[in-house]
Amino acid sequence: MMIAIDGPAGSGKGTITKILAEKFGLINIDTGAMYRSIALAVLNNHIAPDDKEKIIEIAQSIKIELKEDGTILLNGEDVSKKIREKEVSQIVSPISSIVEVRKIMVKKQQEIAKGKNVIMEGRDITTVVLPDADYKFYLDADIEERAKRRYMQNQENGIEMSLEEIKENIQKRDYNDMHKQVGALKRTKEQIYIDTTNLTIDEVADKMIKMIKE
Ligand code: C5P
Repeated sequence: MMIAIDGPAGSGKGTITKILAEKFGLINIDTGAMYRSIALAVLNNHIAPDDKEKIIEIAQSIKIELKEDGTILLNGEDVSKKIREKEVSQIVSPISSIVEVRKIMVKKQQEIAKGKNVIMEGRDITTVVLPDADYKFYLDADIEERAKRRYMQNQENGIEMSLEEIKENIQKRDYNDMHKQVGALKRTKEQIYIDTTNLTIDEVADKMIKMIKE
């Protein structure tokens, strides 16, 4: 079984994906974490965020591992927390817009999923990475709600960013993610669209589980 979930930041994709992965015994692939790992490597290597060639080299050479428990390893180091930091969030979207970077990542993502039961979330999963997925969802919520959710998550993880800063960052990323030359976040007729603004996580999960069982 393959489940593909797309949607903007803070729409609930990450949390829902974890719940469904457990429920159906699927491998959980957070593709945003992969782009974030590249962005972190760019920062660690003091590469300018507009130096495309060096960024492509980084994307080709780094080793990203997504562990079953949600841990993200970058060249063997646990970066699960670092990739959520403000500095990474600020540069990840432009970096993920580089067409070559996307090609490398999409290939990796398809290789990870090949022949396995997976649930994968991101921005181009239903459209580019797994267009033949059994279930395709687009999760959404209004910007105020999404910013609030991200703020709470950051608080839990000790990441200091004001609600206003988060809202601004999400809005910028949304715009950029929806206007990419390749792999843009978009809605299609094939996706099941769910507005999660006024729903709890459990309500969203129940809704999706029902649809999948049916
Ligand atoms: O999902 P998350 O918010 O962690 O993703 C971080 C960024 O990575 C997004 O804003 C987007 O620019 C990029 N991304 C992408 N394609 C994906 C997943 C994430 O371009 N499939």
